[in-house]
Amino acid sequence: MDKIPCFLCGTLLGVRTDKNGKLYLICDSCGSQHFVRRQHGMERLKEMGRYFPQQTAQLAARMESLLQVQARLNEIDALKKEIQKLELAAGHIFRDQEKVRARDAVQKRVDALLAELERTAEDIHEEPGLKKTVAT
Ligand SMILES: [Zn+2]
Repeated sequence: MDKIPCFLCGTLLGVRTDKNGKLYLICDSCGSQHFVRRQHGMERLKEMGRYFPQQTAQLAARMESLLQVQARLNEIDALKKEIQKLELAAGHIFRDQEKVRARDAVQKRVDALLAELERTAEDIHEEPGLKKTVAT
């Protein structure tokens, strides 16, 4: 059985079995002790030991994907500021064509990032592991 976090401090605890076959957990970190005496509780504890590591992995995957989205949003913000600067620098009456081309190139990068962001959102939606969590 995998480890289960202590409800008080979050330390991962191994499930122990006493001489009568009953399950218990002892947290050396905060000193709490958890005894599970009934069959239903022991079954729930075993289930939790199986599902907790799975859910932790899914949460880590979601966090990673969220950080990627955040990084893209930050880049888009920075590029939009650059587009505004280039637009100003290009002038209004006598347009600097190099600045206009640079602005258009940066805009293409923004468009590509937005498209990538949309694909990421679709991937999250279609990830089979996450879908299963919602269904159960
Ligand atoms: Zn604890």
